[in-house]
Amino acid sequence: MPGYDLHTHSTASDGTTSVTDNVAHARALGLDGIAVTDHDTMAAVDEARAATGDDLEIIPGTEFSAELAASSVHVLGYWTDPRDRALAAEMDRLRNERLRRAQDIVAKFHGLDVPVSMDRVLELAGGAPVGRPHIAQAVVETGAVATTQEVFDDYLADGGPANVAKHAVHPVRAVELLIGAGGVAVLAHPGLFGSRTGEVMDDEVIEAMAAAGMVGIEADHPDHTDEQRRTYNDLAVALGLVVTAGSDYHGDAKEQDLGDATSPAAAVEALRDCRPG
Ligand code: AMP
Ligand code: ZN
Ligand code: FE
Ligand code: FE
Repeated sequence: MPGYDLHTHSTASDGTTSVTDNVAHARALGLDGIAVTDHDTMAAVDEARAATGDDLEIIPGTEFSAELAASSVHVLGYWTDPRDRALAAEMDRLRNERLRRAQDIVAKFHGLDVPVSMDRVLELAGGAPVGRPHIAQAVVETGAVATTQEVFDDYLADGGPANVAKHAVHPVRAVELLIGAGGVAVLAHPGLFGSRTGEVMDDEVIEAMAAAGMVGIEADHPDHTDEQRRTYNDLAVALGLVVTAGSDYHGDAKEQDLGDATSPAAAVEALRDCRPG
């Protein structure tokens, strides 16, 4: 399968497979490359590089957390330098913030008579930045809810009764931090913004992100409807941005497989040409 999967997770965040497994899986599929984009960390990048060979390019990156009116906005950064002090400091802060927020979410579940244990959440995270999928898995294990998707639908989606928003930076600041770290910034799955409340992401925010140097929009995401793909493809073209695709692979934590959405080499070259400096 030719092409680049520009959005993947591993056990370094809330995926269920190691990045070494993801690399082997990508090579078996015959992909040209994968971007390693764990939430708010670049911890898996070195392992990915060690696991690959000449047949699969590793694009180092992260899926960086931002927030707009208590709803999540995710910004993909590619070729970011994890040693950049401002980016590293914010990723550190986010890791602590995720811990605080997980404790608050667990307390909310207790208030809703769901006896989920914080110790189990931490065990499932295994030292990675704690994400809602870890909490959802721990809730399923209590037997109170059948599937992690039901946990999201009934409790944990943005705006849900057990959710607590992260305190994260404005999306424009996220773009600035990723570019400041030598990377390029791409808006992840804009169609998923506020999906529970029926809100859509304000085009003006996306335009402000582009004005701050953002270079692409992930229009092709497995959870986007055909209409969302068209809308964001057209918006990217109108703003002169690169259209990207990625599977948002999370191992067993989500339905989509690695390579379910891929970007052509030309899109990757267009992104590479936008690297600062
Ligand atoms: P967090 O980084 O802790 O805010 O969690 C974000 C992750 O939770 C996403 O990458 C998805 O894997 C998952 N997620 C968020 N919202 C939903 C939803 N409505 N349904 C299923 N999974 C979701
Ligand atoms: Zn995730
Ligand atoms: Fe995301
Ligand atoms: Fe993701």
